[in-house]
Amino acid sequence: MEVFNQKTTINNPDITLYIKREDLLHPFISGNKFRKLKYNLLQAKANNHHTLLTFGGAFSNHILAVAAAGKEQNFKTIGIIRGEELISKIDENPTLQKAQEFGMQFEFVPRETYRNKNDTAFLEKLKLKHGFFYLIPEGGTNALAIKGCNEILTKEDEDFDYICCAVGTGGTISGIINCSKSSQQVLGFPALKGNFLNEDIRKFTKNNNWELITDYHFGGYGKVSADLIGFINDFKKENDIFLDPIYTGKMVFGVIDLINKNYFPKGSKILLIHTGGLQGIKGMNMLLKNKKQTLIDYYD
Ligand SMILES: *Cc1c(COP(=O)(O)O)cnc(C)c1O
Repeated sequence: MEVFNQKTTINNPDITLYIKREDLLHPFISGNKFRKLKYNLLQAKANNHHTLLTFGGAFSNHILAVAAAGKEQNFKTIGIIRGEELISKIDENPTLQKAQEFGMQFEFVPRETYRNKNDTAFLEKLKLKHGFFYLIPEGGTNALAIKGCNEILTKEDEDFDYICCAVGTGGTISGIINCSKSSQQVLGFPALKGNFLNEDIRKFTKNNNWELITDYHFGGYGKVSADLIGFINDFKKENDIFLDPIYTGKMVFGVIDLINKNYFPKGSKILLIHTGGLQGIKGMNMLLKNKKQTLIDYYD
């Protein structure tokens, strides 16, 4: 489906708010993961690779995206998954289940081993075991991924004063910064705690018209609050747009909160980037259900 900018309700007449529906790019290779894989898949093909190998956690959007892309483009896919205990829980995990349906082969590794995901020795071992493969790093961020993310903003977006997006590894925002106008300000909302991201982003972009807003991670990666879930459900009712609770939901919550606190000057035009990730809602709802908390309204 075509990506378009959708006008979003806002109870402030001085601010204009749109959301770029990157979530509509593909049902499983969602939003920014589609952008990040595009040139990597071309490179893998050009180098005659038949297997893609990558890393991810239990509910990873990236894992499912690689599995789906592999299925579509005839690559064998191998997912190195964090957490040995998950091996007996595939059937309870909607992300892993779907990735397996797409033909992904899993190797479950203990968390201590998983930490070596970028070490040459560990990767050599994986080569001995799985043969020749094209390596896609955890989260999919590398130079070719940034090249794909350079295509998120288009000419029609030049009118916006602010571009806002969720941040995981920083790959997506780097592409957005690269292609923004210097008169535009790019705001990133990290979904996780920590201060390493500024440096990571500086590796991929030379521009300085950006800033990270670190107040909206809700306790860390994968953590949510009743307020956040309530916000996501209200946003769906008002705009008929689903938001994922791990990334885009937190970013949009943050932007609306900043609008209410008059962070943005009168007359500002703001563009939110919906990076997708809706496949993760089912997994989050399972966790919420176990804790007897309110679920995210979502169709299946
Ligand atoms: C992976 C992901 C992100 C984070 O992207 P990075 O390039 O790692 O910063 C943001 N939103 C969604 C929905 C994602 O799946």
